[in-house]
Amino acid sequence: MVKAEGVHKSYGAVEVLKGIDLEVAPGEVFCLIGPSGSGKSTFLRCINHLEKINAGRLYVDGELVGYRQQGNKLYELKDREVAAKRRDIGMVFQRFNLFPHMTAVENVMEAPVQVKGESKAVARERALKLLDRVGLADKGGNYPSQLSGGQQQRVAIARALAMEPKLMLFDEPTSALDPELVGDVLDVMRDLAEDGMTMVVVTHEMGFAREVGDSVVFMDGGVVVEAGNPREVLTNPQHERTKSFLSKVL
Ligand code: ADP
Ligand code: MG
Repeated sequence: MVKAEGVHKSYGAVEVLKGIDLEVAPGEVFCLIGPSGSGKSTFLRCINHLEKINAGRLYVDGELVGYRQQGNKLYELKDREVAAKRRDIGMVFQRFNLFPHMTAVENVMEAPVQVKGESKAVARERALKLLDRVGLADKGGNYPSQLSGGQQQRVAIARALAMEPKLMLFDEPTSALDPELVGDVLDVMRDLAEDGMTMVVVTHEMGFAREVGDSVVFMDGGVVVEAGNPREVLTNPQHERTKSFLSKVL
């Protein structure tokens, strides 16, 4: 579903991704861990067409990100084509970014109605089902300010799912939450995983990575230091940098 081959990304003279190679299989829960500043968010943004890579190749669902291949020539995608690709990728951020002037249901309906031109009745019905799925069946009429952080984040997940993405990206979805609210959000993510969704999850929740993750990659300084099965990497890391990082977060 995602394949990175020697992905490089710089901001000006600062190289943030220094040749990332990795592969995410369909249906896989792929966890990205690593210290702050290691390039995790940048990598997610590259997958989601929010950043252009400087070298290497990045594929989503078998297609090059940012380019269209015709014969052996590559053409940069136009804005409209990029927008169409991004519709297939759901993203959930640390900050929930809900529309504050819309209720939970309206937040979830917004993209299907505005972007896909779905009828409001159909979109509302699906929004209500999605809110039910994330445990918020009775909160559809609430505005974001009337919801806890954990509830807002679950609305944000429902909103991403409303576009029926083939890939979900999570960038530290529980880092801004009070500890007692983290579990409900992780439970929703676990359900999604069991349902077969392909997920790339940047997280500091090592319990989630170990129990739900199929693969884990430890990034530091813009490179993949160590990758493998979470049970192995997290309990028996091979590299000093991984050991040192894990001793701080576990
Ligand atoms: P992480 O998510 O692992 O904490 P990021 O991908 O956010 O790391 O950032 C990696 C590095 O790239 C950091 O040093 C950060 O300051 C830098 N960086 C991120 N975004 C930008 C940007 N838009 N312009 C310049 N530097 C950036
Ligand atoms: Mg980040």
